[in-house]
Amino acid sequence: MPKELSPRIAIYPGVFDPVHRGHLDIIQRGSRIFDRLIVGVSVNPDKQSFFSLEERVGLLQLVCKPFPNVEVKGFTGLTVHFVRDLGAGIMLRGLRTLSDMEYEFTMSLMNLNLDPGIETVFLMAKEEFSHLSSSLVRQIAILEGDLSKFLSPEVNEVLGKRARQRNKTST
Ligand code: ADP
Repeated sequence: MPKELSPRIAIYPGVFDPVHRGHLDIIQRGSRIFDRLIVGVSVNPDKQSFFSLEERVGLLQLVCKPFPNVEVKGFTGLTVHFVRDLGAGIMLRGLRTLSDMEYEFTMSLMNLNLDPGIETVFLMAKEEFSHLSSSLVRQIAILEGDLSKFLSPEVNEVLGKRARQRNKTST
């Protein structure tokens, strides 16, 4: 555990299934605060994702291109292990609602217990994105609703295609 951790390097972990404009806003603001921001794309052990880990990493790489100090990496296992392995001292999270706060508070305390060398830093979601979640985005895509306000054009196209494919095979 004794590795030196940098407070100038932050990891922004999440499932990103798929990445939406609420995530991108946190990435953009985080990239202005930290010297290096690494988006950590994880596997959700509790449910099957809409996009594979490779697909989610690929989409994030595409939409993070405008930010030169942002990298994207997939990972499995404990987030604090991933953060420490990269020498980062900060875990960045976004906060939308009071219910997010309750969950994030518990998670950040647990992570602090698991690794006291890593601090969690929160950024409040912008008002216009505070109702936005990947699960809502997936539901709307399956019902073929317009998501152009909430997704980058590339993500919107790939998600629309995937949702139509799924709808076809399930009928
Ligand atoms: P979700 O599936 O709810 O979008 P993720 O695991 O992909 O969740 O989220 C990764 C991180 O991004 C979490 O810290 C989450 O709170 C944050 N986040 C999710 N949606 C938004 C949003 N609309 N605005 C700001 N932060 C968000």
